[in-house]
Amino acid sequence: MDSKWSDEEAAAFVERYADRCNADLALRVYSSRLIGSDPTLVLHGGGNTSVKTTANDDLGREISVLCVKGSGWNLGDIEPEGLPAVRLETLRALRGLDKLSDEDMVNAQRTRMLDASAPNPSVETLLHAFLPHKFIDHSHADAILSLVDQLDAEQICRQQYGKRLGIVPYVMPGFALSKLAAEVYDKDPEVEGLLLLRHGLFTFGNSARESYERHVRAVSEAEEYCARRRYWSTRKSQLPLPAPAYERLAPTLRGLLGEGERRYVLELRSSPNVVDFVNDSQLEELSQIGCATPDHVIRTKRFPLLLRVGDQQGAALREHIASQLIDYRKNYNEYVSRQMQEKGLVVQPLDPDPRIILVPRLGMIAAGPTPKAAAIAADIYEHTIEVIRNAEAIDRYQALPEGDIFDMEYWSLEQAKLGKQKPLPLVGQVVYISGAARGIGRATAQAFAAQGAVLYLVDREAGPLRALASELRCRCEVIDLTDEQAVRQSVRHAVQCHGGLDGVVSNAGIAPQGAIDEVSTAELEHSFAINLYAHHWLASEAASVMKAQASGGFLLFNASKAAFNPGAGFGPYALPKAALIALMKQYALELGSWGIRSNAVNADRVRTELLDSEEVRARAQARGLDVDSYYRSNLLQREVSSRDVAGAFVQLALAPSTSSAVLTVDGGNIAASPR
Ligand SMILES: [Zn+2]
Repeated sequence: MDSKWSDEEAAAFVERYADRCNADLALRVYSSRLIGSDPTLVLHGGGNTSVKTTANDDLGREISVLCVKGSGWNLGDIEPEGLPAVRLETLRALRGLDKLSDEDMVNAQRTRMLDASAPNPSVETLLHAFLPHKFIDHSHADAILSLVDQLDAEQICRQQYGKRLGIVPYVMPGFALSKLAAEVYDKDPEVEGLLLLRHGLFTFGNSARESYERHVRAVSEAEEYCARRRYWSTRKSQLPLPAPAYERLAPTLRGLLGEGERRYVLELRSSPNVVDFVNDSQLEELSQIGCATPDHVIRTKRFPLLLRVGDQQGAALREHIASQLIDYRKNYNEYVSRQMQEKGLVVQPLDPDPRIILVPRLGMIAAGPTPKAAAIAADIYEHTIEVIRNAEAIDRYQALPEGDIFDMEYWSLEQAKLGKQKPLPLVGQVVYISGAARGIGRATAQAFAAQGAVLYLVDREAGPLRALASELRCRCEVIDLTDEQAVRQSVRHAVQCHGGLDGVVSNAGIAPQGAIDEVSTAELEHSFAINLYAHHWLASEAASVMKAQASGGFLLFNASKAAFNPGAGFGPYALPKAALIALMKQYALELGSWGIRSNAVNADRVRTELLDSEEVRARAQARGLDVDSYYRSNLLQREVSSRDVAGAFVQLALAPSTSSAVLTVDGGNIAASPR
């Protein structure tokens, strides 16, 4: 890698941040971003940086401080606020202590902060404080890991770096590591940085540029070292699995992976690098050595699950995955018990489910409670593959023993990084919504997102659909609901994106009008295509996914008051809507034994774009009402909003014992009440 330092850019940062921080901190922000924007150096909140500078305390005195990366910030887009100031003098004095527990260390750091509301400083703060240099940079660069994750790491590192970098044996981050690193440095203050075995790289300097460029140089040399030895023998005789294999595999895997309340979304990665790795004849051995750097364990678990599914389908596929998962979970639980016994402590075991699943001929599947968590696990493991490949090219890849990994996995300071999962009822549930771009569909998408659901939105209108999907940070697809293949294909796309499906809100509809004795067959057929068949195609395709998952699910249909209480001139609309109620009941009847619930919402007089305003005005006039009164002409004398309808969909999604029900959202209308 090359240095990306630019004096002009650096000066621009100093100028840009002049009214928010001093030049030291502005330069710290600049070079932290240089490091953070390169995924071969740091990933998803990994790595940390610091600068020793001065700040004014609340009495106006100038004091020495360490500004160090705070938790929750990524180096790639860090701001001065992401580098909270900690009083340096008393922080350094902690080195005199013999011991300091993790809790006491966190407390010691917090009580020395200048701003009580700033984020917690990095768990590696003391390491930064105990070293004398003004600027310090720390990463878990892939190429460095390939050298430090070796059976004979010390000799390899010595051979490459001579005395330029100090070598620190593995100790878990915290007080003990900080002291050890400072001792290694003290023995040879000429070093430009420290290699932390099985962990990563620290470099330092008197200027931001010096520390950064020493970092780049050390990583470049590691890259060249790897490149000189690189070879990779794969047995490419294995044909890749055909694409539908993932659509078959994913729902079965996803259903078995989620137990009880736990649900996972899946992400498939099948880049050439990944496929090469999963096809390697040594996969069994290489994938079961362990994490490349210890803090990956909370994202990927210690080992991936290896699934050799080949061309299996149906029950055989299900049995194979189930038995592999039983073994995986058993091994995980045994590892936790073994470690608790060895260490004489009691912890609440984390879930025993794998986060990375390697499938020869297909690729890697990452699992997480959210799409983001799955993507982070996938990113980390893609880099792990790179580290393993390079390490094996050099000599032998070696990871930490399980005792050290356990310490890291169950370290409260690491678990804190995952954040407290909000107890939202639909977390991890994938919900497909049709007609999502506007009106009721849009409100429904927002309501499901607020309950934690992972959404897949479809509509025929690209503009508003994409805007909503970007607002809700979810996937979307423009489809034509009159095209059966397109509808079915879109459900399969949702499965490709997230691994499966837990619910469908079949909402899209049109409202054609016409006298029943005059309406043409073509007009009627068009209405049936969208107001009935599209619902059926969607439900039928979703049902096959839900059956493969075998973890229940819900189908929700947007019916209409017209299904029970038709209006003159609305035949082309009312007929398919009445049939839709029958469709909903048929699904409830035939899929109930699978735990799949089928329900409908009957709404009326919701102000949406389905009916144009002229039409509404005419209807209101015919009843001698103005438009607003028209919307309020119900028992409650209350206008029904799209959000009310959306709320009804959410309630039905969350009603575990309700199936074949019609929930009315019309402000009260006796004539239209279903029974
Ligand atoms: Zn680290």
